[in-house]
Amino acid sequence: MIMEHPENNAEYKGLVVNAGIEQPASVNPYLKNRPRRKRHELSVADYVDGIVKGNTTVLGQAVTLIESLKPEHQLVAQEVIEKCLPYTGSSIRIGISGVPGAGKSTSIDAFGLHVLEKYGGKLAVLAIDPSSERSKGSILGDKTRMEKLSVHPKSFIRPSPSAGSLGGVARKTRETIILCEAAGFDKIFVETVGVGQSETAVHSMVDFFLLIQLAGTGDELQGIKRGIMEMADGIVINKADGDNLERAKLAATQFRNALHLFPAPESGWTPQVLTYSGFYNLGVKEIWDMVYQYIDFVKANGYFDYRRNEQNKYWMYETINEHLRDSFYHNPQIGTMLPDCERQVLQGNLTSFAAAKSLLDTYFKER
Ligand code: GDP
Repeated sequence: MIMEHPENNAEYKGLVVNAGIEQPASVNPYLKNRPRRKRHELSVADYVDGIVKGNTTVLGQAVTLIESLKPEHQLVAQEVIEKCLPYTGSSIRIGISGVPGAGKSTSIDAFGLHVLEKYGGKLAVLAIDPSSERSKGSILGDKTRMEKLSVHPKSFIRPSPSAGSLGGVARKTRETIILCEAAGFDKIFVETVGVGQSETAVHSMVDFFLLIQLAGTGDELQGIKRGIMEMADGIVINKADGDNLERAKLAATQFRNALHLFPAPESGWTPQVLTYSGFYNLGVKEIWDMVYQYIDFVKANGYFDYRRNEQNKYWMYETINEHLRDSFYHNPQIGTMLPDCERQVLQGNLTSFAAAKSLLDTYFKER
C-alpha cells in the first residue's frame, strides 16, 4: 500500500516529498503456483543409449548412480553396466600414483594433453582417494587441479567417489571405467595417492602402473614401500628441472639399482626409470613412448589379456566379499548382537572365535 508521507501535509513547511511507488517483490509471486516439474528420470535404455553415443552428461549421471548408496539406484546402475559391457575393453588403462605434492595433477595435465595430441582419441581421468572418506571431500581428480585438461573437449574428469570402504570406492571406480570405455574413452587414467593400500586397488584395474617420485630428500628409497615399487611398470622422477635436475638424475640411478633387487616381473617387462618435468613439459614424450612400448610388448607376449582376465577374477571375488560383508553387517540381528559380543571379547569372557561363530551361526540360521 502507498503511504501518504507526513511531510506532504499542507502545514508542513519543509521540502515536499512525493509519495513513492510500491516496490515489486524480488521473487516472482506466481512461482509457487506453478506445477513443479519433476526431473526427468532416465531409463536404463536412455542411459545406455546416451553413454554409447558418447554423451558425457549422461555418462556423468550414470556415474552418479554408481556412486549412490540407494539400492534402487544401484539396481539401475548394475543394469546399465551390464548393458555397456559389450562396448568395453578396447582402451588402455594407466594407473598414476605418487605422494601428495609429487606433482600428479600437474603431470596428468601435461600427460593428458600429450597423449590426446599424439595419439588422438578420448581420455577419462578417474581417481581412487581413500582419504576422501574422512575428509568428506574428494581431492583427487578434481577438475580445477587439471587446468588445461579440464577444458579439453576430448577429456572427462571425475573425482574419486567419496563414500564407503577402499574396496567400495575402488569397485565404483572400476565400474566407472566400464562406462567410460562404452562412451568411447580409449585412454583411462586412474590417479591415486601413493600411500599404500590404494595402489593395490589401482594396480588391479590398470594395464600399466606409473609411479611418480621426487628426488631431493637424500633417503628417497627408504620411504618407499617395497610393495608399491614392485608393482610399478615405470618409475618417473618429476621436477627434473632447474637446480633439481642433477638430483633427479641421481635418484633415477638409485631407483634403477633398487629395481635390480626385486624379482623379475611376471610380464617379462623390465620396469624403466625416467626423469621429467611435468611443469615445464620436459621428458613427457619419452614417458609415453615407454608406456606405448610396454603395451605393444605385453600385447605381443599375451600378458595384456592374461592380466585383464586375472583382474576380472579378482573383481569377481572382491564384489562377492563386499556384498557378503555388507549383508552381514547390515543384518539387524547382527547389529544388535555385535556390541555385546565385542564387549565380552574385550572382557575376556568369550574367545574371539566363539564370538565370531555365534554371530555367523545366527546370520546363516536367519537366511
Ligand atoms: P599433487 O599433489 O601430486 O597433485 O601435486 P601438484 O601437481 O599439485 O604439484 C605440487 C607442487 O609441485 C605444485 O606447487 C606444482 O607447481 C609443483 N610442481 C609440479 N610439477 C612440477 C615440476 O615438474 N617442476 C617443478 N619445479 N615443480 C612442479
